[in-house]
Amino acid sequence: MRRLAGVSLCALMVTVCSLSVPVSDRARVRAAPVAEPDDGCGPDSGARTSHPGPHPRDHAHLGHEEVVAMLADLRRTLADRYGTSDERRLDSTLRRAGRLVVPVRFHVIHNGRRGWLSNKDVRRQISTLNAAYGGAKGGVDTHVRFRLASHGHTDSAAWFYSPRLYENSMKRRLRKGGRNTLNVYTAAVGTDVLGFSTFPQWYRRKPHMDGVVIDYRSLPGGSFRHYDRGYTAVHEIGHWLGLFHTFENGCRTPGDGIADTPYEARPAEGCPYSRDTCRQRGRDPIHNFMDYAHDSCMREFTAGQGRRIRAAWAAYRAPRRGARSVDLGTGPAAGALSVGAPR
Ligand SMILES: [Zn+2]
Repeated sequence: MRRLAGVSLCALMVTVCSLSVPVSDRARVRAAPVAEPDDGCGPDSGARTSHPGPHPRDHAHLGHEEVVAMLADLRRTLADRYGTSDERRLDSTLRRAGRLVVPVRFHVIHNGRRGWLSNKDVRRQISTLNAAYGGAKGGVDTHVRFRLASHGHTDSAAWFYSPRLYENSMKRRLRKGGRNTLNVYTAAVGTDVLGFSTFPQWYRRKPHMDGVVIDYRSLPGGSFRHYDRGYTAVHEIGHWLGLFHTFENGCRTPGDGIADTPYEARPAEGCPYSRDTCRQRGRDPIHNFMDYAHDSCMREFTAGQGRRIRAAWAAYRAPRRGARSVDLGTGPAAGALSVGAPR
């Protein structure tokens, strides 16, 4: 009730705020072949939209060259660290190491009562993440789990209404943990873009920007129609774990760089059953968490996405304790260790 009451005013104010962002994400991504978080206002590499219409929602799109470069960086990093970039070979070792437990630092940005989330709200979101990544909604078990390490509130109208504009200062002030800690921020991101995320490839250059920002109305039971099951966080965290959109690069090679997510020409809108937009084999993966469908339509990750997540973790987020040893920092013990680690 509390959150429902503030929606229309919030949406209006967010629209006004978003107009003040000087450079559109799309323009900046086009201008910079390698888009990385900007000091003033981070890119929406992983942005998810709430109103997919006839016009592009490609705040979310990386350029073709960027995707190719990021995939090459992953292969190179894996080869350097483990002697192979073959994700199937690596995975037999990675899965033996057990579940990968990600400690989560949850930062609720609010403006007075608006945007304020209870501990119960936050825990429901964590449960949703665990269900989605565990395969409980459909699809595979990615062997990734999430554990709430801390939950704090920050009362700031500026950060709440303009999280992209103040992304840098907000994260510099609040971010906790190392490369294996997920920092989630909730704010009034907007009604067109529901969230945005960094990729693991970006951690080396901008560690303080690492994390995921989602709209507080997208949490389970939130007030965003069609986007109220908490899957915006599932989607954005997919980017944080190294996944691209299933529609990345459209029908053009390499797509999202994962073999078992069929190519699709454009994001799904609503829930377009049986859609098949590319000549390559397979119908569009409209039920995949890394597409743009309504929450009611989303339900799965694929085995290839699970392998990619584990490979990206091994490459970029696992603790480093000696060259070429497979020390993945997985399992509950590693998760607990990381919680107490200094910044
Ligand atoms: Zn996205």
